[in-house]
Amino acid sequence: MAFPTETVYGLGADALNERAVLGIFAAKGRPSYNPIIAHVAGVEHACTLVTRWPDAAASLAERFWPGPLTLVLPRAAHVPLALTAGRDTVAVRMPAHPVALALIAAADRPIAAPSANRFTELSPTTADHVNRSLGDRIDVLLDGGPTSVGIESTVLDLTGDVPILLRPGLISRPELAGVLGVLPGDPAPAAHAEEARAAPGMIDRHYAPRARVVLTAPEDVQAVITREMGAGHRVGAVVIVAAESGAAVMHRLPADALGYARGIYAALHAVDEAACDVVCVEQPPADASWDGVNDRLRRAAHPTAPG
Ligand code: AMP
Ligand code: MG
Repeated sequence: MAFPTETVYGLGADALNERAVLGIFAAKGRPSYNPIIAHVAGVEHACTLVTRWPDAAASLAERFWPGPLTLVLPRAAHVPLALTAGRDTVAVRMPAHPVALALIAAADRPIAAPSANRFTELSPTTADHVNRSLGDRIDVLLDGGPTSVGIESTVLDLTGDVPILLRPGLISRPELAGVLGVLPGDPAPAAHAEEARAAPGMIDRHYAPRARVVLTAPEDVQAVITREMGAGHRVGAVVIVAAESGAAVMHRLPADALGYARGIYAALHAVDEAACDVVCVEQPPADASWDGVNDRLRRAAHPTAPG
């Protein structure tokens, strides 16, 4: 079943039922090395899935839950390995959406849920997006309207000596540091594909529309649109301030990271709906509050599919 969270729509199943979890992998075409987040009703519930709940987890949950922050902690023995892709860690998050919370309460168990789209596709931020990607593979779709956050949660690994930011999101590094007292570190660069899979949020090409994404400096937007149209392509544009264009579809997004994140996937879905070959995306600012957005855009623009 698919349901709304405040980040993106999720494809949910009983997190403690191995067969149910495997059903999620099958429906999405998700590779089995990519672990799934368990959505919980609160801190007490999260604690049933882990063997340790360090002070850092307590402080972060106090400050950011319910909300778009996922914490990776040591896995309790009864948590199926299918959920964690064989690792000794499990990712937990309390979503800030009444429908998601009602679902967890009604099920009376943690709900495993990745984004409700086929693997590597754009995440869905409306029920309609889910329907287009997975409509033929799901039995139930709860429509909660457009999601409010719009990009996937920040993922923070608390299992080591230093907190590691596995996936940036709208809860930014400085905000995390404000609670942790230290800036979270970056994952060690992976030398091998196997290692890269240790943090699957880092798969290079991910979160991508069908149209080829060209990330473009604001002053070059017009030139890129003109060039791509000249090459015979049907061109879409997603801009913040850039004007003019001539593009077949043009989406203007807010100049603040929150507003932008809320709209970016819908804009890219619309570009695909309009059958554009190319989408010129105006590069947003580089400061920390935009890290989550810039991470998704960089992956969407990455030329090669994951292995
Ligand atoms: P999504 O498909 O958007 O739900 O992505 C879930 C993300 O959570 C993955 O891409 C990982 O980055 C992260 N994740 C989930 N479980 C774990 C785990 N046990 N260890 C590390 N990262 C995890
Ligand atoms: Mg996803």
